[in-house]
Amino acid sequence: QAKAAGRNLVKFFSAEMAERARLRLAMEAGLRTCVAQRELALAFQPCVDAAHGAIVGVEGLLRWTSPTLGAIPPGQFIPIAEDTRLIIPIGAWVIDEACRQMAAWRDQGLPALRTSINLSAIQLRDPGLIDTLRACLNAHGIAPELLELEITETVLMSNAENYLDVIRDIRKLGVKLSLDDFGTGYSSLSYLNRFPLDRLKIDQAFVRGMLDSATDLAVVKAIIELGHELGLRVVAEGVEREEEAQALCSIGCDELQGYLFGRPMPGAQLPQWCEDAGRLAAET
Ligand code: C2E
Ligand code: MG
Ligand code: MG
Ligand code: MG
Repeated sequence: QAKAAGRNLVKFFSAEMAERARLRLAMEAGLRTCVAQRELALAFQPCVDAAHGAIVGVEGLLRWTSPTLGAIPPGQFIPIAEDTRLIIPIGAWVIDEACRQMAAWRDQGLPALRTSINLSAIQLRDPGLIDTLRACLNAHGIAPELLELEITETVLMSNAENYLDVIRDIRKLGVKLSLDDFGTGYSSLSYLNRFPLDRLKIDQAFVRGMLDSATDLAVVKAIIELGHELGLRVVAEGVEREEEAQALCSIGCDELQGYLFGRPMPGAQLPQWCEDAGRLAAET
């Protein structure tokens, strides 16, 4: 009987593994054509000033809706796009779309907003990156200073040296840089002052824990101090509760991002969101 149960377990696992492999292949195939078939979109999440609540920027987050697989979260398809290097054409679409949206907001009379997008390590190692950035900024007439690239700490952890040149080239172009999900990597901090960054984004996990865990609170405080010591602005991500926002503000965090202020939304909705947020700020 134990043997039979074991056989069933094996069958169960292999069925599950087969299903996972099938899904992965389907995603790979879908990712190959998602740009040409216009299945991608950016959703924009506001980032607000911690002291006044005024919007200071937005982060563009990639959304993929496959006609056969439905809406797939970036946490699932980005790793596959990275493995297959499809992240290079997909990432180029993201850069162009962010610039296109910035130009559309400008043409609608919205005040210029810093717009950040996420970049994979593979893109940073792509020799075509700087040309892509320059071409997209030029095509839409966007000042480079308005665009910010978010890279994760893991990029700078292994062989940080390899990235120094491209990071400098990005800065030479005038484009800003921020370090995303900061605090989760187990890196030495020594590279931090060697990379010309503008912003540090505290990983959501610490924000989530900071009201209940003294350790998480200590980490958040330490990151804010370290960032300021290095002349960087510090952003907290994943702010969902008013008490978190207040605590972050009182310990000197510069900017806040999270569902408390706004969920990622289509670019076309942002002007109305800004108007509503401005009206709310004026009332209080
Ligand atoms: P990230 O850059 O750290 O983005 C923040 C994630 O947290 C987003 O998830 C956002 O929707 C979510 N978030 C924002 N506020 C809150 C909150 O208050 N509570 C909670 N629970 N979550 C919140 P999303 O959009 O699913 O993106 C996940 C990750 O996928 C991003 O993390 C980023 O690493 C990656 N990603 C997204 N778009 C791109 C892209 O265009 N290129 C690359 N390479 N990676 C991307
Ligand atoms: Mg990000
Ligand atoms: Mg993050
Ligand atoms: Mg993340």
